[in-house]
Amino acid sequence: MNYDDFFSDALARLREERRYRVFADLERLAGRFPRALWHSPDGPRDVIVWCSNDYLGMGQHPKVIGAMVETATRMGTGAGGTRNIAGTNHPLVDLERELADLHRKEAALVFTSGYVSNETGISTLARLMPNCLILSDAFNHNSMIEGIRQSHCEKKIFRHNDMAHLEELLRAADPNRPKLIVFETLYSMDGDCAPINAICDLAERHGAMTYADEVHAVGMYGPRGGGQAAQQGAMERVDVLEGTLAKAFGCLGGYIAAKASLIDAVRSYAPGFIFTTALPPAICAAATAAIRHLKTSSYERERHQERAARVKAVLSAAGLPVMMNDTHIVPVFVGDPEKCKEATDILLAEHSIYIQPINYPTVPKGTERLRITPSPYHDDALIDALAEALVDVWERLKLPLKARALAAE
Ligand SMILES: *Cc1c(COP(=O)(O)O)cnc(C)c1O
Repeated sequence: MNYDDFFSDALARLREERRYRVFADLERLAGRFPRALWHSPDGPRDVIVWCSNDYLGMGQHPKVIGAMVETATRMGTGAGGTRNIAGTNHPLVDLERELADLHRKEAALVFTSGYVSNETGISTLARLMPNCLILSDAFNHNSMIEGIRQSHCEKKIFRHNDMAHLEELLRAADPNRPKLIVFETLYSMDGDCAPINAICDLAERHGAMTYADEVHAVGMYGPRGGGQAAQQGAMERVDVLEGTLAKAFGCLGGYIAAKASLIDAVRSYAPGFIFTTALPPAICAAATAAIRHLKTSSYERERHQERAARVKAVLSAAGLPVMMNDTHIVPVFVGDPEKCKEATDILLAEHSIYIQPINYPTVPKGTERLRITPSPYHDDALIDALAEALVDVWERLKLPLKARALAAE
């Protein structure tokens, strides 16, 4: 048996399908975001990052860096164990209080990532409810799909954001059966939002529980950064809110927030919580600093929205096929995996612009795209340079451009 062949063959299959991925070797520069150093094959080069999920640049905020450094100096680096062994440190307790308050819930529970919080949170909750039926949005993230799979519960998928379909599935189910509706509040590939109140209306009418992934909304929406549920006035209505500390909060980790009894049950039953080492105190303190800052400062949120709107306007005026939405995500349609990859290669090599291609399976085949994420720190000059570079790439790859508007305003 040549075991090595199995892996080489697996990679060859990916290459054949144009799904083999290459990462750019980058060095982020604190204080200079979105500028970074690219360790290219020909040596280090300055580039502009246009695809970071550090949406608000909190990863370089002096308060956040300060909290991390100060806490690491005082408490050391690691947590010292799983929460059950020796890993509950005071900064983690503070962080969970901060998160419960952010979402106006009784309690919160922190995991080592948003992925783990969905995977182990959903599977644990669903397994604790006898014969639970899970209703899942068709566009849900892989971490939620894995959580559903691991619960071994029956699942029904409703068409993306389709309330009539969700209602039909709820109606068809036994009224006495426990039901869990699982969805995202902001879908990060298209930038569209869930109708949260409509989902909660249906949940109430049919006796279902709701679980919402707020990963792409926390810190960025709502008056204190509570997310889309806060923005849509539905925060009290959603039973379980899940979020990440790794995107707008610029750190690492994930969490759920809910009623105290539910949180205590997950704490007590979830393998992905129990059997893994807790987050380091310094990361907890840094995340708390970011959340606290964004609870009172609207500057980053407002500037973020303004910048995203400007990028959409400038790119559209240049004739580029922006997939329009009302959020901070700027998807630009390509519709071909090879051209998508080629476009990003040219952008990096010739325009010093870093954007990752978004291909299948992250998005459906035929809808390949560039996913651009403006931050408060992308200024007008950077936006104009982006538009120029994209038009150059579009012309060279013979991708369709719309008739251009006369002015870019
Ligand atoms: C990124 C992401 C996650 C995972 O969060 P991490 O903290 O990065 O593990 C979960 N859900 C969605 C929708 C995401 O995009």
